[in-house]
Amino acid sequence: MKLLNKHLELAKKSARNETESKMIAEYLKHFNSGDLSEHKEGSRFWIKDKGPIVETYIGFIENYRDPAGQRAEFEGFVAVVNKEMSKKFETLVNGASLLLPKLPWSKEFEKDRFLQPDFTSLDVLTFTGSGIPAGINIPNYDEIRQNEGFKNVSLGNVITASLKESKPNFLSSEDAKYMEKYSVASFEVQVGLHELLGHGSGKLLKAGTDGKLNFDQAKTIDPLTGKPVTKWYAANESYDSKFGPLSSAYEECRAECVGLYLSLDSEVIKIFGFTDLTEQRNVVYVNWLSMVHKGIESLKMYNPSVKKWLQAHSQARYVITRVLLESAKELVKIEQIEKNKDDGKPDLLISFARDHELIQTKGKKAIGDFLLKLQTYKSTGDSEAAIKMFDHYSTVDDNLEYPYLKFRDIAQARKKPRRLFVESATAMADSTVQLKTFPNTHEGLIQSFQEHFSDETGIETMLVDLWKKDLVYFS
Ligand SMILES: [Zn+2]
Repeated sequence: MKLLNKHLELAKKSARNETESKMIAEYLKHFNSGDLSEHKEGSRFWIKDKGPIVETYIGFIENYRDPAGQRAEFEGFVAVVNKEMSKKFETLVNGASLLLPKLPWSKEFEKDRFLQPDFTSLDVLTFTGSGIPAGINIPNYDEIRQNEGFKNVSLGNVITASLKESKPNFLSSEDAKYMEKYSVASFEVQVGLHELLGHGSGKLLKAGTDGKLNFDQAKTIDPLTGKPVTKWYAANESYDSKFGPLSSAYEECRAECVGLYLSLDSEVIKIFGFTDLTEQRNVVYVNWLSMVHKGIESLKMYNPSVKKWLQAHSQARYVITRVLLESAKELVKIEQIEKNKDDGKPDLLISFARDHELIQTKGKKAIGDFLLKLQTYKSTGDSEAAIKMFDHYSTVDDNLEYPYLKFRDIAQARKKPRRLFVESATAMADSTVQLKTFPNTHEGLIQSFQEHFSDETGIETMLVDLWKKDLVYFS
């Protein structure tokens, strides 16, 4: 803490404005006394420091790893705004009113007013803690979030680094090449659409406490029955209370479908900088292929002994894969291979038709129809129909058209080791800030640690010492 405060004193001198300076002053008090109210004060200044070029946060923040959910783990990060990516997100936010009507539901099922979210993309320079998240929504103090605000950011280079793997499982070498070239671009498109127009779209039909409806029942036609809607949320009901344990996976699935569906619109793809027709089609192809690829890889997050999905996004992507396998058979096939010719072990091969017309017709219809159901059930609060449909597609069983339990075993057996992040550093040279990067190897990882800590803490000696005692290892 002493070392930390020494550096915070130095950081305070470089504060860009009064708010940042006051924020650091509160952190200094907090790390000196341990009083949480000082960290809360610091966080209040932090949320007021809007859109800084260099973003930071520090303290005992997340309690994920404490079984009692009380004690928080120390973390600190420095990140830089990715101006180019943030600008694309901004264009997308500004174009939302033109893009929302392209979704497969009528305006009665859309929000009366689109709430423009604050969406920036940051690149992490350094992040200390046991794991690096792909996105953050802080501070964690509820009273501050609800009454004073919070910040919502995507950590761009964490996402892109996670996508750079050697050769993805279950793909032909040709598809692997497409993935290598376009997965980052297609993921940017998918994430932007998912967050902004996925989670941001759709209206909940609801009665107020006075019994007044927030929609015109006669004009609001249920697209699945062709008749005026008969269901909606009562005043004391919410989406979470109605959909219960299914709510996260269902909502993630809806957002992912919006991403797939709107990525087919060439105006949308242009916002992300793809003007060439072939390039546009390649981005779309990889976006759709990636979804099915993730859907199959997701099976690792299914626990067959309790018959439960352990992760909302994984379940959502598996559901989408199942929808495509059921309703767009011409588009996607999965082949089970008894013995992979390289290692002799069971394997899978995903084939996705590289046929843009087919994606635009069969694929669009399959996802569009499904998305319309997801939205209609969500809007009307028809959790009964929603659960029935979602359970059908979430099932992992060997008695379906494909042996999904066997697929799960193969995905599990071919699980790749957890990746480590090699973090960059900065140094002053000729009175300008220089970025120092390190090789993508274990040696590079250690060099990065040395660079960050060696002058003060002797971290190198410490690491070698721990390594000799077998207390730290690299996998
Ligand atoms: Zn989401």
